[in-house]
Amino acid sequence: MAQSSTTTPLRDLRSRVQKRADAAADTRPRVTLSFYRYVQISDPESFKTRLLDKWQAFGCLGRIYVAQEGINAQMSVPTEYWPEFDAWVQHQPELTGIPYKMAVEEGELPSFFKLMIKVKDKIVADGLDDSSFDVTDTGEYLTAAEMNEYVNNPDALIVDMRNNYESEVGHFENALTPNVVTFRDELKKTPELLRVHKNKKIALYCTGGIRCEKASAWLKHKGFSDVRHLQGGIIDYAHQVKEQGLENKFQGKNFVFDERLGERIGEDIISTCHLCKTEKSDTHYHCKNQICHTLFIGCERCVEKKNGYCSFVCRQVDKLPAKTKKTVARHYNLRIRKRKPFQKTRV
Ligand SMILES: [Zn+2]
Ligand SMILES: [Zn+2]
Repeated sequence: MAQSSTTTPLRDLRSRVQKRADAAADTRPRVTLSFYRYVQISDPESFKTRLLDKWQAFGCLGRIYVAQEGINAQMSVPTEYWPEFDAWVQHQPELTGIPYKMAVEEGELPSFFKLMIKVKDKIVADGLDDSSFDVTDTGEYLTAAEMNEYVNNPDALIVDMRNNYESEVGHFENALTPNVVTFRDELKKTPELLRVHKNKKIALYCTGGIRCEKASAWLKHKGFSDVRHLQGGIIDYAHQVKEQGLENKFQGKNFVFDERLGERIGEDIISTCHLCKTEKSDTHYHCKNQICHTLFIGCERCVEKKNGYCSFVCRQVDKLPAKTKKTVARHYNLRIRKRKPFQKTRV
């Protein structure tokens, strides 16, 4: 048997702090991008190994999910290796012709600080039983220009398929933004929420388009006949608006799932600081207390005043000796975390 099929790549044993430090020290210019495809991958483990071997050599960083149903990748590639990376990806039979979604803006800090490729049951956690409906019956795509027409059309309804912490800082004009914390919940709630709009033309959107592939098929299965979705999501919308000189109908920031936490699309700040509830802000922070790590929106003044913690309690907890913290962490994860999802601030 060939050696390569039995060896698992070495695990990255560096600490979180070390990974961050290494990533920050690597100042090579990078390209941040995402891509996905629903495609049959018969052996996800060996596919993962193939990606890992090559992408490690290119110095890629990112978070990539692989499943039998396809791939969902968010990553950064050193610019010097971009041509090789692109050529290699397009040469893989599962990935030929795959469109990339390039980041709208690069952050000051690295967007990722490690390379993680995980084999999963699904490339998006949607909680759906895929055998119960036709997942290939997806909605038709909308271009940015067509999306703008939808925004202006009173007979159309725009639905944000993302979570509340994403839509709070940015969304399309007049969009319906369900107050949910997971995509699973979103799929559970939208058919009911949309019931009164059954005869409208429905346009779904998400960050890069992947969630809408499943959501559009799901809503069609639930009896909505005219369901379309924004091709390439907000990321591609922003590029098309720029390239084609279209009017931008997306207000605020596009939340992204990497260290940047967001990229600015519209100039306006549409959300408010969660701590003082008065100052306008659309900057997300993770509470500095690693046990809490809660995501919140903070204004500069509050974040400085609270020293990066989401609350006074978190600040105190973080002062505890490491050993005590361990006990607190167990208690926290069991009882508090579940009770404290992201709280959308109503203004
Ligand atoms: Zn504030
Ligand atoms: Zn906290």
